[in-house]
Amino acid sequence: TETLATRDPELHRSITDELGRQRDEIELIASENIVSRAVMEAQGSVMTNKYAEGYPGRRYYGGCQYVDVAENLAIDRAKELFGCEFVNVQPNSGSQANQGVFNALLKPGETFLGMNLASGGHLTHGAAPNQSGKWFNAVQYGVRKQDSRIDYDQVTALAKEHQPKLIVAGGSAVPRIMDFAKFREIADSVGAWLMVDMAHFAGLVAGGQHPSPFPFADVATTTTHKTLRGPRGGMILTNNEEIAKKVNSAIFPGIQGGPLMHVIAAKAVAFGEALRPEFKAYAAQVVKNAQALADELMKGGLDIVTGGTDTHVMLVDLRPKKVKGNETEKALGRARITCNKNGIPFDPEKPMVTSGIRLGSPAGTTRGFAEAEFRQIARWIIEVVDGLAVNGEDGNGAVEKKVKVEVSELCARFPLYPGL
Ligand code: PLP
Repeated sequence: TETLATRDPELHRSITDELGRQRDEIELIASENIVSRAVMEAQGSVMTNKYAEGYPGRRYYGGCQYVDVAENLAIDRAKELFGCEFVNVQPNSGSQANQGVFNALLKPGETFLGMNLASGGHLTHGAAPNQSGKWFNAVQYGVRKQDSRIDYDQVTALAKEHQPKLIVAGGSAVPRIMDFAKFREIADSVGAWLMVDMAHFAGLVAGGQHPSPFPFADVATTTTHKTLRGPRGGMILTNNEEIAKKVNSAIFPGIQGGPLMHVIAAKAVAFGEALRPEFKAYAAQVVKNAQALADELMKGGLDIVTGGTDTHVMLVDLRPKKVKGNETEKALGRARITCNKNGIPFDPEKPMVTSGIRLGSPAGTTRGFAEAEFRQIARWIIEVVDGLAVNGEDGNGAVEKKVKVEVSELCARFPLYPGL
């Protein structure tokens, strides 16, 4: 009967403080979103108590009849959402989804092709400090110097030279729609599997605003918590029965034990939400908002890598204003605008400094912001950055304070989790 507040006031305080932070700031981190109360309710449910190693109908524990219902709902809804035949909803994260596919399709030491971190790829696509870069022969492609777009000629040449068993398309800072057909053609030319990591744009695929990786990809992975707006977690999708079987054994017993049934229940809720017409409207607004933000930032004198975005995410090149990513992240934070520093392609600065910031529209869109609000946010960003440009890394305190007050007013007009 004891509540969290009385059982553990210290921890409870950290949660209420975090709620306050989310309420009072503008969230522009491209990989974040704001889940519904229903998703949180499922995730905070009794399903956290249940061990359910195995898959629905084939468990290693008794008493799984109700968690089976939840997992089957998640699977069926994901299949409908992405138009594919086999789905594994058990990966605990996007990283584990990728690890699952690698373990299913590759042996240690075998070769795969992925995009390098500096060009917008993810750590799990073969970066040296990650298991994907340590246990496999990871060959890395990148973007072209002239336009920061994926260098398909390089992908073709590297595929020919290294004969990879798997090619990975996708990334964490890729603002433009990738050419899945081209990746398929390259994979076919060397007999490689094609995996699309749609972690960032899965919600746009679900909402009809981005091409689907299918039928081009042999297998797709995703996180469930970014544009898709579900609980933190991962998922693997395929139309290939042979791959599906291998993936299922690679996740359990390959790399995981008991699945997080409360998270799987929350995934089912989120997928159900994504099947509704409102989600299409949300996805369309995500793209419109990102484009309005990019456009207004360029009007204010900042560069956007590739000159804009087709999706929810953009990379801002701060060099025209002669400021760095790290100091900009901090200055915007002081004005209650949250984002992350991010290297831009061919960045001359170190990873902890960077010449860029990465911005995204999903969380703001969920909150209810439309183009007008995103244009206003862009103007605030310009004001803060101009303050930095003139005053150095401490920024312009007066401007940051003024923006912070205006940000608070905007946030108050779009209340987050009212009644919570
Ligand atoms: N793949 C891509 C493209 C990502 O951007 C991310 C997350 O940043 C991941 C995989 C990993 O997801 P997680 O953080 O859930 O492990």
